[in-house]
Amino acid sequence: MPFYIDNRCTSCGACLSECPTQSIRKGMNQYVIDTDTCDEHELCVQICPEDAIHLLKSEISPPQDKAKS
Ligand code: SF4
Repeated sequence: MPFYIDNRCTSCGACLSECPTQSIRKGMNQYVIDTDTCDEHELCVQICPEDAIHLLKSEISPPQDKAKS
């Protein structure tokens, strides 16, 4: 089950270099995680100063990123 980033993200970029699968990128309003490639290493969860990264539960939808193509 992959992770997602909630709206507490301040786009500080600290998590970007922590992801070993390069699954984090800058979205329109905040950073986003590609749930297809996230391998749940949890390094981003540990580094985030805003506690904005969480385990994606089936009943929760990740934020929509309209910039994704
Ligand atoms: S470390 Fe947290 S606040 Fe910073 S860009 Fe990543 S998710 Fe956003």
